[in-house]
Amino acid sequence: MGNIPTYHYPQHGKLVVLGAGESGVGAAILARQKGFDVWVTDSGQLAGRYKTQLEDAGIAYEAGGHTEARILDAVLVIKSPGIPDHVPIVKQLKDRGIPVISEIEFAAQYTDAKLICITGSNGKSTTTMLTWFILSQAGLNVGLAGNIGSSFALQVATADYDYYVLEISSFMLDDMVHFRADVAVLLNITPDHLDRYAYKLQNYVDSKFRIIRNQRPEDLFIYCADDPLTVEGLQTHQSPARMLPFSLTQQFEAGAYLNEHNQLVINIPNQAIFIMDINEISLQGQHNIYNNMASGLVAKAQELRNASMKESMSSFKNIPHRLEFVACIAGVNYINDSKATNVNAVWYALESFAPRIVLIMGGVDKGNDYEMLRDLIRTKVHAIVCIGKDNSRIYDALEEDAEIIVNSASMQDAVQIASHLAQKGDTVLLSPACASFDWFKNYEDRGDQFKEAVMNL
Ligand code: ADP
Repeated sequence: MGNIPTYHYPQHGKLVVLGAGESGVGAAILARQKGFDVWVTDSGQLAGRYKTQLEDAGIAYEAGGHTEARILDAVLVIKSPGIPDHVPIVKQLKDRGIPVISEIEFAAQYTDAKLICITGSNGKSTTTMLTWFILSQAGLNVGLAGNIGSSFALQVATADYDYYVLEISSFMLDDMVHFRADVAVLLNITPDHLDRYAYKLQNYVDSKFRIIRNQRPEDLFIYCADDPLTVEGLQTHQSPARMLPFSLTQQFEAGAYLNEHNQLVINIPNQAIFIMDINEISLQGQHNIYNNMASGLVAKAQELRNASMKESMSSFKNIPHRLEFVACIAGVNYINDSKATNVNAVWYALESFAPRIVLIMGGVDKGNDYEMLRDLIRTKVHAIVCIGKDNSRIYDALEEDAEIIVNSASMQDAVQIASHLAQKGDTVLLSPACASFDWFKNYEDRGDQFKEAVMNL
């Protein structure tokens, strides 16, 4: 505990918040509470609720552009994770030595709660929610924040938690310098967002490993020992923290694994061993065993009782858009996995269902390599229905492997086509592997349109 003494940022003066989204507005409110002279600027328009929050707190803001001189006059700048480092204003700030930090870095200075930080390419939201659920069901006073729910900064300003479970994206990690995770969880690393990392995988791996920066021997580092990029990264990124690996193929004296009876084991020396049949876990699929291992290790390390952990792990319900069951129509199951915005998530989705699958995929390709899907497409997928403006890369990569591959004109059209291609017993799976912003507002909108189209069949 106690992140406070290691920070050296200004504690008063002009503070500018770049980007008035959830994190920016929360940071502005916390900064104001701490006595900074706060000003918020956003190049776009502010959502109504953020305007109200800022106005209620008496914080000045501008929308639809950035007044450069005023930004450069700051002693400290808090930047939204959505703004890349290469934009000119960020470069100018850095050239002048003005610290540009994330909302998480800023807010962590003002709490001595225990920070449980979850990152990875896939499974962050699920594992963050699951961990929070297990801890809160056991009666701990725990907040949920980061990339999920209301901002960490706002909660630091208005609540008084003993623990936070934080979902941390690589963009957030990029602006975290002194931050220290009491418990760091790295779920996996597979290529994603490479457009923000100069198309260099190593940069993205390094970014993910920032989660263990500043850790101390009394902290914990929980990671997946089956994940090749994590294991490779460990050779160059070391943490003095106590290491707790999890795996489906190896067993550990301290860590989580599957035993020969297909039971999930969580073994932390000097504590009652936790054993649970994997069929009793509410979230199914191999990826969710990993997620439960990670959450279970966090929980066990907080000395939670096995009975309480089991109860939570068998009753947890995931948030929408992650392998969400929508309906069974004419014997066909419709599954919404709109949150699958990269190839690895699609791999786990395909792995979770029996043949035959009609896969709806496509959208904005962030430099995907479809190679890893080839075998599963051949063995399980009967047809691919493409959504999105340009799917030439999917055609190039998978045309030979899928019996049928067709375009669609809208989500409604895609669902109609899929329903014609599917037979009784099949699964129609929306698992796009791509970002959504060509046809949709965001992944939630894409998933909602899918669900609506299914309901209209
Ligand atoms: P994130 O917040 O990292 O995007 P989510 O929990 O929202 O992760 O899940 C995103 C997608 O990844 C979903 O399609 C989900 O089924 C899949 N997924 C969840 N956990 C894992 C995991 N451990 N490994 C690979 N894919 C996963």
